[in-house]
Amino acid sequence: MDKKVALVTGASRGIGRQIALTLARDGAFVVVNYNGSEARAQEVVDTIVNAGGEAVAYQCSVSDYSKTEAMIKDLISTYGHVDILVNNAGITKDNLIMKMSEEDFDKVIETNLKGCFNTIRHLARQMVKQRGGKIINIASVSGVLGNAGQANYAASKAGIIGLTKTMARELASRGINVNAIAPGFVRTEMTEVLSDAVKEASVAQIPLKKFGEVEDIAETAAFLASDKAKYITGQVINVDGGMAM
Ligand code: NAP
Repeated sequence: MDKKVALVTGASRGIGRQIALTLARDGAFVVVNYNGSEARAQEVVDTIVNAGGEAVAYQCSVSDYSKTEAMIKDLISTYGHVDILVNNAGITKDNLIMKMSEEDFDKVIETNLKGCFNTIRHLARQMVKQRGGKIINIASVSGVLGNAGQANYAASKAGIIGLTKTMARELASRGINVNAIAPGFVRTEMTEVLSDAVKEASVAQIPLKKFGEVEDIAETAAFLASDKAKYITGQVINVDGGMAM
């Protein structure tokens, strides 16, 4: 991946942080996008640089169409190319449908699904010009199977799967691979907030009987971003301990 420029959204912590570290380990120059966690994004950059890699932090809420456009224009004018896009930024605002507010529904769709649209919308033309690129969208097992209490989140992730397959079809002839990863339960701050009872009930549904680690997702993303995966497009790779088999 030497000299490849990779934009990883929501890379200040959790899965995105580990994807940034792994792509940098494999030789990419990594743009560590974040929304609010500036110090944590800088920690990711410092960790990469201390290990001999190259990275910069970049603040931008991917739910904002024009700010995302400005970020991508800036990256293209500064670096000349962006070769890998990992749409990882995501949030949850869980509730049963009868209690879910309109605001919580909209916010999750705007960040998780529209965030992917915003980055791809503004980067696709550049990737077409480059005659190549890798787009990896982080979906979820919730988008594959559905999950009680996550109507907004599961809809956003199912939407990402539809977006992925459609982008794969639109961009395949231009040498651009578009795939999704659907993680199961992964140990991050997003799942740390779950009660012990919910965690136990979740593990009971996982054939491998444990939560995944951020490395499980990051290694899959690095593979999809590499030329080893050049004949894979439009796929949803379930990295979920067997939940969605
Ligand atoms: P996390 O620890 O909560 O981290 C979320 C990241 O997204 C943070 O870096 C956050 O940045 C960023 N973010 C949130 N809103 C943003 C916005 N508007 N613009 C840019 N960045 C934004 O979550 P995670 O567990 O690592 O999850 C990462 C992805 O994997 C998400 O898409 C999630 O849905 C998906 N996923 C996770 C699991 C799991 O079990 N953990 C399972 C399936 C799928 P700031 O801190 O700067 O706001």
